[in-house]
Amino acid sequence: MSMNDHLMRAVQDRTTDLVALTQDLIRYPTVNPPGEAYRPCAEYIARRLKRSGFEAEFVRGEGTPGDSDHYPRTNVIARYDGRGPGATVHFNSHIDVVEAGHGWSVDPFAGIVRDGRVYGRGACDMKGGLAASIIAAEAFLATYPDFSGAIEISGTVDEESGGYGGVAYLAGKGYFSKPRVDHVIIPEPLNKDRICLGHRGVWWAEIETKGRIAHGSMPFLGDSAIRHMGAVLHAFEEELFPALDQKQTRMPVVPEGARRSTMNINSIHGGQTEDFFPGLPSPNVADTCRTVIDRRFLLEEDISEVKSEVTSILERLKRDRPKFDYAIRDLMEVLPLMTERDTPVVEAVATGIREIFGKEPDYVISPGTYDQKHIARIGHLHDCIAYGPGILDLAHQPDEWVGIDDMVESAKVMAVGLDVMLRGAAVR
Ligand SMILES: [Zn+2]
Repeated sequence: MSMNDHLMRAVQDRTTDLVALTQDLIRYPTVNPPGEAYRPCAEYIARRLKRSGFEAEFVRGEGTPGDSDHYPRTNVIARYDGRGPGATVHFNSHIDVVEAGHGWSVDPFAGIVRDGRVYGRGACDMKGGLAASIIAAEAFLATYPDFSGAIEISGTVDEESGGYGGVAYLAGKGYFSKPRVDHVIIPEPLNKDRICLGHRGVWWAEIETKGRIAHGSMPFLGDSAIRHMGAVLHAFEEELFPALDQKQTRMPVVPEGARRSTMNINSIHGGQTEDFFPGLPSPNVADTCRTVIDRRFLLEEDISEVKSEVTSILERLKRDRPKFDYAIRDLMEVLPLMTERDTPVVEAVATGIREIFGKEPDYVISPGTYDQKHIARIGHLHDCIAYGPGILDLAHQPDEWVGIDDMVESAKVMAVGLDVMLRGAAVR
């Protein structure tokens, strides 16, 4: 067997520690919004890693959305420098979790262990992955104290709300660029034998149709923005959705239903507000109607094309439909990303998966974006993947859990990855 027995045993021997670490992390209720308990959670990670010889620093995302003295956007970045110069491998995990919501059969912030699983909000997304990366690094350092290069582990905030106070902020300060960092692994819950190479693109936009207010009993004296929006949605149904369905991709997106272009209508609001007089809507013709669209697109599509598919429909309505007028406003755009399979971090983690599971990894693409977007776009670092334990479908659900065996096996894969990237162990 070619497997590195010492390193594997060093991970296995830390199983109890791995479970306790995951439980501890879950017990910080780092709910976002509003960004609860970020600082104590970051401090816990720093204490833990300092004990293992890392240096740790805190970087607050000053002035980013949600940042305040009461809810500081506190990130932690820890670094261990080896004996000589070499590559830096960075594990980046977000510490924020979404709210627990209803339907739990256990306390979501107690870190309860039952039947080989750790339960809690954030267990799989992604405190289990953070814990696995810490254990992988500590096992590697204990086994090979003389390695060259460096290991970094970060706990960053606000991934669930776009990452602006977290990875985006840090990337803007050079924390995710060469020469400081060479390879990045984001331990999101993509399953222990899969490597996530990137994500589809996103375009969010708000479309507003315009009308003219009049009394509801004489709508012919006005012009209904809601009926104009109806015409927009009708055209989307007739033309746009069928066209998007036809667009297939070479990106291995999971689930398979997302292996084409999609669009969601996030919201629609028309007419005067009912907020002040519940149950007593004003009898007016609507002079405005707004909808927010969420368009997910593919590597094969150009963002300008994606936008013009929508605007060409709006322009045609403006020509053909009496009194039709509209405005469109970009809310967010993220280009699709796919790391190539022959990059060093992919080959290193693939080697780990082959060794631990005796099979080829599955290469996947996420239907939605995650912090890799900031590392690519702001940090200009493209040797980056998501790899970690846990089942993606459980994320954000009640009774979220992560399997203990899955965490241990993932930590072994990460440790083999470190062996390949930092000690030049052969890609196998
Ligand atoms: Zn996540």
